[in-house]
Amino acid sequence: MKRVYNFSAGPSMLPLPVLEKAASELVCYGDSGMSVLEMSHRSPVYDEIIKSAEALLREVMIIPDNYKVLFLQGGASTQFAAIPLNLMNGSGKADYIISGQFSKKAYQEAKKYGDAVCVASSEDKTNSYIPVTTRESFRPDADYVHICFNNTIYGTKYYYIPDTGDVPLVADMSSCILSEPVDVTKFGMIYAGAQKNVAPAGLTLVIIREDLLGHARDITPTMLDYKIMADNGSMYNTPPCYPIYICKLVLEWLKETGGLTERKKINEEKAAVLYDYLDSQDYYIAPVEKQSRSMMNVTFVTGDAELDKKFAKEADALGFKNIKGHRSVGGMRASIYNAMPVEGVRDLVEFMKKFAQENPKG
Ligand SMILES: *Cc1c(COP(=O)(O)O)cnc(C)c1O
Repeated sequence: MKRVYNFSAGPSMLPLPVLEKAASELVCYGDSGMSVLEMSHRSPVYDEIIKSAEALLREVMIIPDNYKVLFLQGGASTQFAAIPLNLMNGSGKADYIISGQFSKKAYQEAKKYGDAVCVASSEDKTNSYIPVTTRESFRPDADYVHICFNNTIYGTKYYYIPDTGDVPLVADMSSCILSEPVDVTKFGMIYAGAQKNVAPAGLTLVIIREDLLGHARDITPTMLDYKIMADNGSMYNTPPCYPIYICKLVLEWLKETGGLTERKKINEEKAAVLYDYLDSQDYYIAPVEKQSRSMMNVTFVTGDAELDKKFAKEADALGFKNIKGHRSVGGMRASIYNAMPVEGVRDLVEFMKKFAQENPKG
């Protein structure tokens, strides 16, 4: 069967060469005589896999030595609680910027643990932009500032890194990690659920500056304590072995195809195919402010809920899958992560043109 263009926001497409490599190694990995799916996480052969996954991530993202890389479970959502439990430990204050649903959830979770305050929000305009902040926006004694770097549901992204002074900046990069180079040194912690741009569901990446480790509250569950996870090389218990292995293959693919600088160019080109078309016509509306447009999740509507529904249905039948917007916002969303080829985006735009012609608005 022919592979479709899967525009899902997550889990999402994986690079075809990665799937093919994984398939070729599925039954017997190397000369181990067994599948990675069956392997002990304590075996030397698996040790090599997790160590190279980490080394590759460090190389591709240029992660300095004073940061730890953790391979965790529980998804990005578990981090919403782990972050305050580990970091809200000095003044007990944390500042949150709400720019979409996930940052709001993170904020609401943190409120359970201390003095979390929303210092900036884009909820006044249905999260169609990224709030602008200055150092003065934040409490200087806050334990950290939390942002979501790319808003998967609304389709916005940060084009600047907020200046938080000495307050560590924590960023949810679930839907944009590995899409372009980022200066890791500007962040105290970066985290991401892997199922958008890194690996299958089940793996969560945490990249954290060493000085932020070791201050967890006494009540912090062992499994959520970053220091314990770091001291045990992410193997306090059984890690998500297979997603880590796929993560390694994805990183090898990224490296072979030019790393993040090249990836950014490709992603910009892909996003431009869609946004240039959206800007050239008035059938579809792109609700996001131009300066905040996501490179990964492109949202648009026809302005007519029935037409939106018809669009998603016809697109699906033609092999443009999962183009329907998030259930909370409606409309359409094309998630064009690293693995989506440029042809997929070009073909989608051709379909959009045809649909507009065939379905004039009343
Ligand atoms: C998908 C997503 C989440 C939720 O991730 P889970 O791994 O399902 O918990 C959180 N934040 C962002 C930005 C996301 O895109």
